[in-house]
Amino acid sequence: TATQTVDAAPTPLSVLSDVFGYDEFRGEQAAIIDQVMSGGEAVVLMPTGGGKSLCYQIPSILREGTGIVVSPLIALMSDQVAALEAVGIRAAFLNSSLDFQEAQAVEQQLLAGEIDLLYMAPERLILPRTLDLLRRAQIALFAIDEAHCVAQWGHDFRPDYLGLSVLADAFPNVPRIALTATATRSTHREITERLRMENAAHFVSNFDRPNIQYRIEPKDRGRDQLLKFISTEHDGDAGIVYCLSRKSVETTAEWLEKHGVAALPYHAGLDAAVRHENQERFLREEGIVIVATIAFGMGIDKPDVRFVAHLDLPKSIEGYYQETGRAGRDGLPSTAWMAYGLGDVVNQRRLIDRGEGSELHMRNARSHLDTMLALCETVSCRRVQLLRYFGQESEPCGNCDTCLKPPKMWDATVPAQKLLSTLIRLHRERSQQFGSGKIFDVLLGRENERSVESRHHELSVWGIGTELTEREWRSVLRQLLARGIVEAVGDYGVLVPGPNAGPVLRGEVTLDLAVDRAPTSPARGRPR
Ligand code: ADP
Ligand code: ZN
Repeated sequence: TATQTVDAAPTPLSVLSDVFGYDEFRGEQAAIIDQVMSGGEAVVLMPTGGGKSLCYQIPSILREGTGIVVSPLIALMSDQVAALEAVGIRAAFLNSSLDFQEAQAVEQQLLAGEIDLLYMAPERLILPRTLDLLRRAQIALFAIDEAHCVAQWGHDFRPDYLGLSVLADAFPNVPRIALTATATRSTHREITERLRMENAAHFVSNFDRPNIQYRIEPKDRGRDQLLKFISTEHDGDAGIVYCLSRKSVETTAEWLEKHGVAALPYHAGLDAAVRHENQERFLREEGIVIVATIAFGMGIDKPDVRFVAHLDLPKSIEGYYQETGRAGRDGLPSTAWMAYGLGDVVNQRRLIDRGEGSELHMRNARSHLDTMLALCETVSCRRVQLLRYFGQESEPCGNCDTCLKPPKMWDATVPAQKLLSTLIRLHRERSQQFGSGKIFDVLLGRENERSVESRHHELSVWGIGTELTEREWRSVLRQLLARGIVEAVGDYGVLVPGPNAGPVLRGEVTLDLAVDRAPTSPARGRPR
């Protein structure tokens, strides 16, 4: 119509509405886009689902030349490109899935200025051949996605990301924008230093996801607990269930299916066509529960995921936060639920100790696990602890299990001393290696083949722990592990007194532990 200013130059806001169909920018998007539009550099820390993509897509469309998007997720590139093409943006990718001719065609389009956004992996970008190509093209900006991959102490380090520092010298006049959903202080510092972005403006979003209710409960019969959680609170809802192994992905999916939940498996070992179909069904149909390894989810954009459940302990808080962040992107009440138990702690320790990699790498993995455990065992607000991990102070949230139902505490000093004494006796007098089963046998004075054979009943600690049930002992041991009072070491996860055992053994401290909450007591929070 006559009133429309058809010829006015497009602005970030007009692109937002005309191309992407949204009315307004969210959070810091507008400020970030302004910074990049004016040729400045930006380091962007924004939680999963916060809307990072538009921060480089819009400047790539508006600025002269092509925006180069560096991403480690080769498998997702074709989907990302297809999504952009669907809204009329000229996008392409360069990766090993293209044959020679296809790659050549993309390169020609790039040189001809016919592409707005070009995706590639870092190892491709830093090839001398690629850098030459880019020098001959007009580049609007470099967007370095998943920038935490440059952090050597992070949970997702990729050596190729270090090579991206060459961009600072090779293209001094092209603005760079680095983006990540990981916002620990050390990762932030490493991104700035290693990518040589000392002149960048920093945009740190609020990491809180107030609509997500965090709940972590002791695992007893994990799958039963999961089923109860889904059927009582999320019947018919879309959700993601994370498991550690491919095997447990498959058995859990089958089992849920058998119990009336529309569940589909997803892991890297499945046939590509099956994987694709399951992902598509999850995205398109309503109320599908996808059971997956952590291979699932990066780049998946489904706004109405109502719950994310963990049946196994994540390896780090970053991982946990990223995975749970896939719930409730639409802002409606959602649940992050997890069951974890003694076995998880011992297994993960064992995996780390068995793993390849340097001493430093192992120490790093252990410290990631320890902070994850501390979150699981905390008796105060989980959100406060999560956000503090990301450098953000906050007040108790009222929408996590510990806020809604503060755990009861009990004085466990004497039981802890008994357990530690038992570990010490077993090592001293039997010099054998023990897992938790044998320790409970001794504490409870349980005669069976393994205890009789090892003459455990002759030990002075035999049967000193009959005041607690095995389940209670498991809870004690799990909490002692999480606090470093007991440690699981070596290939077999042998239990030994940990670095914090001394004061407990000597009676210098009172040790208060939490009474395990009843499994899946639904904690109904008010959406905030
Ligand atoms: P991130 O990469 O930070 O995880 P995305 O860029 O994938 O997040 O965006 C998450 C979702 O939010 C997408 O569906 C996206 O289209 C949507 N989105 C982003 N910005 C806006 C906005 N300003 N208004 C409405 N929706 C938006
Ligand atoms: Zn809370």
